[in-house]
Amino acid sequence: MYNPKSKKAEEFICHEEVLESLKFADDNKNNIELIDKILEKAKTRQGLSHREAAVLLDCEIPGKNDEIFKLANEIKQDYYGNRIVLFAPLYLSNYCVNGCVYCPYHKQNTTIPRRKLTQEEIRNEVIALQDMGHKRLAIEAGEDPQNNPIEYILESIKTIYSVKHKNGSIRRVNVNIAATSVENYKKLHDAGIGTYVLFQETYNKETYERLHPTGPKHNYAYHTEAMDRAMQAGIDDVSLGVLFGLELYRYEFTALLMHAEHLEAAYGVGPHAISVPRIKKADDIDPSAFDNGIDDDTFAKIVACIRIATPYTGMIISTRESEECRARLLHLGISQMSGGSKTSVGGYFNPMPEDEDSSQFDISDRRPLDEVIKWLMDLGYLPSFCTACYRKGRTGDRFMEICKHQQIKNFCHPNAIMTLKEYLLDYASDETKEIGNKLIAKEVETLDNENIKNTVIEDLEKIEHGERDFRF
Ligand code: SAM
Repeated sequence: MYNPKSKKAEEFICHEEVLESLKFADDNKNNIELIDKILEKAKTRQGLSHREAAVLLDCEIPGKNDEIFKLANEIKQDYYGNRIVLFAPLYLSNYCVNGCVYCPYHKQNTTIPRRKLTQEEIRNEVIALQDMGHKRLAIEAGEDPQNNPIEYILESIKTIYSVKHKNGSIRRVNVNIAATSVENYKKLHDAGIGTYVLFQETYNKETYERLHPTGPKHNYAYHTEAMDRAMQAGIDDVSLGVLFGLELYRYEFTALLMHAEHLEAAYGVGPHAISVPRIKKADDIDPSAFDNGIDDDTFAKIVACIRIATPYTGMIISTRESEECRARLLHLGISQMSGGSKTSVGGYFNPMPEDEDSSQFDISDRRPLDEVIKWLMDLGYLPSFCTACYRKGRTGDRFMEICKHQQIKNFCHPNAIMTLKEYLLDYASDETKEIGNKLIAKEVETLDNENIKNTVIEDLEKIEHGERDFRF
């Protein structure tokens, strides 16, 4: 029944295979010989199968857990260095016809103010985001064929790319909208999107159907096979995620890796990124009503094990998590984070008083972007506003090949340095600027390819003189 190459949800996320893997992991959580063998394989940076990774996730041997965290940190360094890519969500509309019981956008919710941005309002949001320094957005919308049809999303993407305010521009629009048809994915592809993002919420079919009682999202197979349709439509950068807290985390972790294996087996391209959202308080949602919440230690272990299992896949953490939690996860494998986010429709240009707020969920990290940038640099990271890969055609299998051979640093590192320079000149506070310029001087010295180094030095000079958007 289990077949990673199959295009049928119930075969590539085979429930029995998940259960057998969980039993195998439980049986072997203290099997030091096996755990050592898995760690040896992981050290070769070839990734792990879902079953092997499940054993590490369950491992109860303290010394081995230390090794797992250490290895996650090393792999993160090898593939992503000290770079952290920044982005922000942009909520277009919270009209929704679904009944997702954990999400305040659900149709039955009459207390949340419903809003949908006009193109003029989108322009204002984008100007506000550009003025913060953002170059990369993830657009978000509820599912509502009448209020938010694909034409609305496409028009909005066009508007976002068209806004050029001062030195600002949005250079990459990622899209997080409900599962749709191949035809619509083709339209999104033609609109020049970066990544298509869709969270599975939960991989357990029974739980999924219970938590999505009404609306088109109720259809487990249609939702789970969405990435297949996106791939068939030519979108080869897709981003997976589950909403931790809805179902047993061991189940979600194992199935999430099976999904990644499926994409690789069926299309030759694993997911571009994996998100790890946890359920949060929201308008009429109380997270304690869901009894599968995970503590920070378990969360850190999940992040570390995903990092080890899929070394070449980006990992994303949002402002759902606090500053402390984000700091802890960064070195375990996170490569992208949102900053200065608002989860309400229209919240960047015109923040609403709380009782009129249309936020999707409460944010834990409320710091402005400049503070986040300074904090990242203080922690030893290199904040990046790079959007070059997809604009240079490095998507899907081409990106994966470069990444698997740990070559991505030859592109990403110089691009991070140059986009940070743009940020410092155009948007940073004096303090951030001072720290950033010192960091750039240090990071340029780490570029070991002389040609690249010389080009970066020349381009930094040009950026100082007002030119923008250099990239490898
Ligand atoms: N409507 C689209 C869909 O169904 O996939 C877009 C997604 S929605 C705007 C973005 C994500 O927010 C959802 O996929 C879900 O995982 C997450 N989300 C919903 N309610 C949440 C909550 N209470 N706390 C944290 N995240 C939540």
